[in-house]
Amino acid sequence: MSEEEILGTARKDLVPAAERPYAPVDHQETVAETIWHNPTEKDVVLDLYVGIPNNLRGLVRSGKRLTWEQRTGKRRYIIKAKSRRAIPSEFDMAIQHMQCQDPSGECSQKPFECKNRAHRRTIIGGLAPHTLVMEGLQHRPTVSDALDDKYAAAQAHREKVAEALIAKSDNEVALKDATEELRRLREEIARKELQLGSVSEPVKEAALSSERSGVAATSSQIHALEEDARRLPSRKATKE
Ligand SMILES: [Zn+2]
Repeated sequence: MSEEEILGTARKDLVPAAERPYAPVDHQETVAETIWHNPTEKDVVLDLYVGIPNNLRGLVRSGKRLTWEQRTGKRRYIIKAKSRRAIPSEFDMAIQHMQCQDPSGECSQKPFECKNRAHRRTIIGGLAPHTLVMEGLQHRPTVSDALDDKYAAAQAHREKVAEALIAKSDNEVALKDATEELRRLREEIARKELQLGSVSEPVKEAALSSERSGVAATSSQIHALEEDARRLPSRKATKE
């Protein structure tokens, strides 16, 4: 039988794919990952079967060196000693095959697919039956290439906002200090004026010169800080 014939029959005789009434619609574009903890002193090496690429023959013909994954159909994950790592949840059963033992009978129809963490389950197999502890689920966002630019722009925007907020709080602190200083200088001037009483104007001016120049400097500093504050985004506007 020729290759064409084999392929032909294979295609003709294909059993249709099973229906998927609950096909996942992931609006957030995430990948479910299971968190595994390796509490042991030894690294755990998991060689999970992912299948040999469909275009293996083409890859070989192209003369490119095949990767270990392409040659073996396995994907290697390593969870170092005393560490936590996430692995796509589709591999859960290959890593640890569990059977639900809950007496309620809730899972008696599908004891190997129990997802209820409150249920008592026994590990009955898998590549890392007793060395890894399942610690829950997380959803890692996946970003398609088309969205990468948007993602980078959003990230840059977030960083800019964070910087602006830091600058703003620095500005606020400086403004508060300057206002306090101005108040102190004005009080000092008022106090000295009272003390000096009816001395002649030039003498009074000489006695108060340092405070008066201080007031001028602080006032212009406050003015500059207020100008800056106007340029910086308001907290309300930057909150998203
Ligand atoms: Zn269960």
